Amino acid sequence: MTTAGTPPRPGPAPGRAPARPVYVQQAFDELGEPLRDVTFVVVDLETTGGSPDDSAITEIGAVKVRGGEVLGEFQTLVNPVHGIPPFVAVLTGITDLMVAGAPTIGAVLPAFLEFARGAVLVAHNAPFDVGFLKAACAEQSRPWPAHRVVDTAVLARRVLVADEVPNCKLSTLAGFFHAATTPIHRALADARATVDVLHGLLERVGSLGVQSLDELRDFTTQVSEAQRRKRGMADGLPHAPGVYVFRDQTGRPLYVGTSKDLRTRVRQYFVASETRSRMAEMIALADRVDPIVCAHSLEAEVRELRMIAEHKPPYNRRSRHPERSTWLRLTIEPYPRLAIVRRVGADGAAYLGPFGSRQAAERAASAVYDAVPLRQCSPRLPAHGGGSACVLAELGRCGAPCEGRVSPAEYATHADLFRAAVSGDPRPLVAPLLRRIRVLATAGRYEQAAIVRDRLTTLVRACARIQRLVALAAIEHLVAARPDGAGGWQLSVIRRGRLVAAGVAARGVPPMPVVEALIATAESVLPGLGPLPAATVGETERILHWLEEPGTRLVEMTGGWASPAYGAGGLRDILRGPPPGDPDPFADRRGLRPSSRPARGRPGARVGGHGLASRA
Ligand code: SF4
Repeated sequence: MTTAGTPPRPGPAPGRAPARPVYVQQAFDELGEPLRDVTFVVVDLETTGGSPDDSAITEIGAVKVRGGEVLGEFQTLVNPVHGIPPFVAVLTGITDLMVAGAPTIGAVLPAFLEFARGAVLVAHNAPFDVGFLKAACAEQSRPWPAHRVVDTAVLARRVLVADEVPNCKLSTLAGFFHAATTPIHRALADARATVDVLHGLLERVGSLGVQSLDELRDFTTQVSEAQRRKRGMADGLPHAPGVYVFRDQTGRPLYVGTSKDLRTRVRQYFVASETRSRMAEMIALADRVDPIVCAHSLEAEVRELRMIAEHKPPYNRRSRHPERSTWLRLTIEPYPRLAIVRRVGADGAAYLGPFGSRQAAERAASAVYDAVPLRQCSPRLPAHGGGSACVLAELGRCGAPCEGRVSPAEYATHADLFRAAVSGDPRPLVAPLLRRIRVLATAGRYEQAAIVRDRLTTLVRACARIQRLVALAAIEHLVAARPDGAGGWQLSVIRRGRLVAAGVAARGVPPMPVVEALIATAESVLPGLGPLPAATVGETERILHWLEEPGTRLVEMTGGWASPAYGAGGLRDILRGPPPGDPDPFADRRGLRPSSRPARGRPGARVGGHGLASRA
């Protein structure tokens, strides 16, 4: 793959050991939002009990502060609608009489959310207060604004030692930091006291080097020492799209990922928001991060896929084994049958897939068997038959070619329906399945209807998938351009479904000379196996996704880009719901599970064992 019109890549020169990252001082824009510029809304609630499940808010108090200055205060009683338990009334001094004329939470909540809009919420024991506020939002069908939250209780436990305070209760901390307001279990007073506690704590963490909100978040959460120590790995990475590769001391890739902004993304592995234990483990092993700057996101995604497939990094879970796919193959013999295979061959057979699992391939095969009487037994049958029929013949689900009851020519009409579904028109297979679903649903047999629906969905999806792949794989050469959002163009050269060159024509740069340079240096490719593209299915599907984004333009192409007129893509809408005027067979959801597995028989058995042999 080549890149034209892009700055030189800072990656290691071929054949040389990658250079260690250079640790440089962070720029101001990388330090995060300084704490002095952050608007905090310190909030405290009084409630009728300890859980939002069975209790309600009786008072909200909040103070908005920034840079040590109070910007405003919010206080209101809230009518909890049901009674306040006596012991709570004694504790807070808030009685039923006091809240009888107060607004309900439905009236108070919009005003509070507006007061707190865009601010970082602060609370002492934040899960309690935030939990009640979230529950109130849910009850009022309002989205929770997803405020960032600072918990002064957690911060105090990280900052203060036992010699200084016996516990981290608000009253204790207010005394320790000489708060101007004494907490009295009333919302505004407690919020004011929490403001003083917050300022006292921020002063303490400031002396420990915590100056920004991100650093405060790291400080209060469990960022491991390894994460903290290795944060410098992100320094020196470019703010550019591309692939990043975490490597251990031997240079072995541990994890490969992509980002539109390499430095920003890699920095996220070293902060508290990275909570995946696997990633913490990976960071502990990592010795360096290598960047590979790419022209645009498609090149980055393709490089990522290829690197994962080649190196199989232990901390990547997806895309490690593109070779392990599952297909349905219609065998080539006088009486063809369906077989589950792991590879596509250039043998002229019809292949449907790839499927994500063997179970999905079995579901699709079951859909075919529900629609046409293809034989389900495994042995190769000669043209003259010569065997004995099984129960499927009695059930009318097979024409018994084993006994010569149908000729190869008659049988071929059924096999041709499968071939047609794969290559262009699945409607003759789909129609009987839709009829069957309606019949079952009308009879109230919803579970059976759901099973057929699942099989049908799997079949149509697989047909749509292979048809899209084949359409792009058939194009020998294609150049496409997409606006880069900054007045320039992202360019891709694609041959037989494989990305062979990528570049950008920045704003003001004529794109066609860049296109010509890309074409001149693009990789040559041979056709893929059978109907397949000259790349992995994953790569071709990423390319299709990129091409189908709004704004993408075709610059040049050999031949045409054609999809079947009655292809499976057109059936997706049908599967989303019933045809206009038809009753929805799934309107009654009683007992319907989201997916169902077809019954499987024992391999080799004459009845029910007419499953799919693994080998063609
Ligand atoms: S054995 Fe059963 S499935 Fe196989 S051809 Fe005969 S009737 Fe059909």
